[in-house]
Amino acid sequence: MTTVGILGGGQLARMMILAGAPLGLRFRVYDPAADACAGQLAPLVTGAFDDLQALRAFAASVDVITFDFENVPAASVAALTALKPVFPNAQALAVAQDRLSEKTLFQSLGIPLPAFADIPSLQVLEQKVAQFGLPCIVKTRRLGYDGKGQFRIREQADVAAAWQALGEQAGSVGLILEGFVHFDCELSVVAARNAAGDFVAWPVTRNWHVDGVLSASLAPCGMPQAVQDQAVAHARAVAEHLDYVGVFALELFHCDGQLLANEMAPRVHNSGHWTGDGAQTSQFANHLRAGLGLPLGDASVLGVACMLNWLGTMPEAEPVLAQAAGFWHDYGKQPRAGRKVGHANFRADTPAALCQALAPVGQALGRDDQVRPLLDAL
Ligand code: ATP
Ligand code: MG
Ligand code: MG
Repeated sequence: MTTVGILGGGQLARMMILAGAPLGLRFRVYDPAADACAGQLAPLVTGAFDDLQALRAFAASVDVITFDFENVPAASVAALTALKPVFPNAQALAVAQDRLSEKTLFQSLGIPLPAFADIPSLQVLEQKVAQFGLPCIVKTRRLGYDGKGQFRIREQADVAAAWQALGEQAGSVGLILEGFVHFDCELSVVAARNAAGDFVAWPVTRNWHVDGVLSASLAPCGMPQAVQDQAVAHARAVAEHLDYVGVFALELFHCDGQLLANEMAPRVHNSGHWTGDGAQTSQFANHLRAGLGLPLGDASVLGVACMLNWLGTMPEAEPVLAQAAGFWHDYGKQPRAGRKVGHANFRADTPAALCQALAPVGQALGRDDQVRPLLDAL
């Protein structure tokens, strides 16, 4: 019986544990928080991600290690690699947790992306804003997620405000400036690669964000096949360059017929949650399969599938469960404003059938705004 150790005990770890049961796997979870939600499903060891002594003890209790949190220090992952197999590798993690290095990688691979620049000082910020034009976005290089650590510069007066808000982080986590993309839509490629170099990608997913946080996803995305093939080719180039093992996501903007890379996530990804109920093989199962050297499962979608994220508090389950197409995922977290606490997946044979299931859910939950983009796209 193989025991998988997961660094980070959030909902991603929780869903890996659920997917690992039919693979005959056991799990142990390592997280700084004693109430980490994956701890409801597997033994939880509490400790800091930079406590090498505690991490080594954890490594001794498992056979193979992965993570559900992209901000585990790459140095900790590198230290554990000397003790047990760790996937994805520490180098891939290091690249993906720094926006400057991931964008530099995309650029070196010939993947188009928005204008970007390292911002060490207010003076450089002023210069680069003048060069990129308005609007543009300042982001922390490290540790940002769900749109946190970002400041949108809409007019010249915002430059000082952006530096006021984020400037002191230039010396710690670093800052970058990005040109603002007036995108037609946001897409993501969720893909898996194993050590033998086998690669599978789920159908390209279309995503809607509200205030920088994922709100809804739809697969297939409905974009022309050539666009989807290009998106997957970009993701594959990144994975091969990093000798990546496991599941990852590449987020892209589609703008004026062109794909621009936004960021990658070195882990299972929120925009792949629909695969839990809507694909032949889920991202969670294939992440584990990849890391264990097992053949990757078929990543095709079962008809058409979508996901709605629940933030803050869980809504009523009944309207979702009243639909045969509906699947309910409650992460077992304490409610907190803006926190990802659960999601619902929907899967149907046809777009029309998916619309039929979704429309009453949007109405019953008072979430027409969240459901509307899906209905319009289907
Ligand atoms: P995640 O939770 O996906 O890790 P994050 O905090 O790392 O998010 P980004 O993905 O960089 O942040 O940005 C969040 C969202 O903000 C994007 O999905 C997009 O909707 C918007 N956004 C980010 N960068 C740009 C940009 N350069 N132009 C236009 N919109 C952008
Ligand atoms: Mg991110
Ligand atoms: Mg993102």
